[in-house]
Amino acid sequence: MPLAVTEARSLLAAYPLAPVVATVGSHSALDIADGAASEGLGTLVLAEAGRDAPYARYFRTTNGPPGFPRRGCVDEVWTYPKFLSLAAPAEQERLRRKGALLVPNRAFSSYVPLATIEDDFRVPIVGSRALLRIEERSERENYYTLLERAGIPTPHRVPGPEAIDRLAIVKLPHATRRLERGFFTAASPSEFRTKSERLIARGTIAAEDLAGARIEEYVLGPVFNFNFFFSPLVPRADGLELLGVDERRESDLDGLVRLPAAQQLELSESARIPVYTVVGHGTVTVRESILEEVFRLGEKFVDAARARYPPGILGPFCLQTCLDRDGHATVFDVAARIGGGTNVHLALGHPYGNALWRTPMSTGRRIAVEIRRAAAEGRLPEIVT
Ligand code: AMP
Repeated sequence: MPLAVTEARSLLAAYPLAPVVATVGSHSALDIADGAASEGLGTLVLAEAGRDAPYARYFRTTNGPPGFPRRGCVDEVWTYPKFLSLAAPAEQERLRRKGALLVPNRAFSSYVPLATIEDDFRVPIVGSRALLRIEERSERENYYTLLERAGIPTPHRVPGPEAIDRLAIVKLPHATRRLERGFFTAASPSEFRTKSERLIARGTIAAEDLAGARIEEYVLGPVFNFNFFFSPLVPRADGLELLGVDERRESDLDGLVRLPAAQQLELSESARIPVYTVVGHGTVTVRESILEEVFRLGEKFVDAARARYPPGILGPFCLQTCLDRDGHATVFDVAARIGGGTNVHLALGHPYGNALWRTPMSTGRRIAVEIRRAAAEGRLPEIVT
């Protein structure tokens, strides 16, 4: 049985006065911890053994001598043999005793099964736990169905390989690293066949995943990830904020496009097929005449999410788009939580967030401001599920 929103919220009744901002140690944990520290909140990172050094060592909070700045932003690290262990009932109890408000990132929803998060994870989550599942492309209802309901343009879906009549992207998981992508492009049914055979031989994709792959039109244009924030604490008309825009660096795609064409052709056939592993992000701004449409898309998404998955978006979300030659955005992916690229504005804030708040405003800090305000006004139940 999915945990009722009221049950998750009622857990707050036993919480200490000063809640601690907790998150899973990967993805955007540093942004979340940095933002919380900037707002004077305690921070806790839930890490996996062998992957905990950035938090437990390099960004760990230590106080300098009197009069000197403190160093780091991670006050406490709890290390588990596997991320999944953080969801054990005794660990949940420990988190509640600590007063942990969990900010969900993609590491949390990837390493803890969604069913556990939805049904058994009795720790208040800052954001909407019901929306985490829409990221699963294999679900009957997912972000595509929500975007369609919202009237937001998505890439045209190609019904099957035989119907490929223009450049298309085929989306399926990596054969072995299931959290990574085994995407490839094809412009015809025969290219689909040759490339998929090569990728199966190379071990990038598995034959059994091909049948369930989503094939969609490849939108030509740069990828812009719009990092929004929606606050339920203010009147609806003031709720939506654009904080920042990031773009991804993908390996080995970005390496390939930095090669001159002649050198690309010298690569082996198989090395010419890029993989799309996200390895970093850059920050970008968008042409101002496009902003109006970007806000319109954000508003539509907020309304559709609220109607279909009440209480809807609470806090950060990210619309991943390609901007075409007319400047129109097509949304090809959604994160109904903090996006993966928000570290680009960690500590510095971002042009849009800063312009709005008149102070450096990263996504992590914006989350902390929301928590602080909700706590001060006795409205924490309105931002957790
Ligand atoms: P995703 O896993 O959906 O976030 O997509 C990974 C990468 O694939 C993106 O960062 C884009 O580079 C690319 N991509 C995904 N969908 C499309 C599309 N419909 N058109 C063009 N590029 C896409």
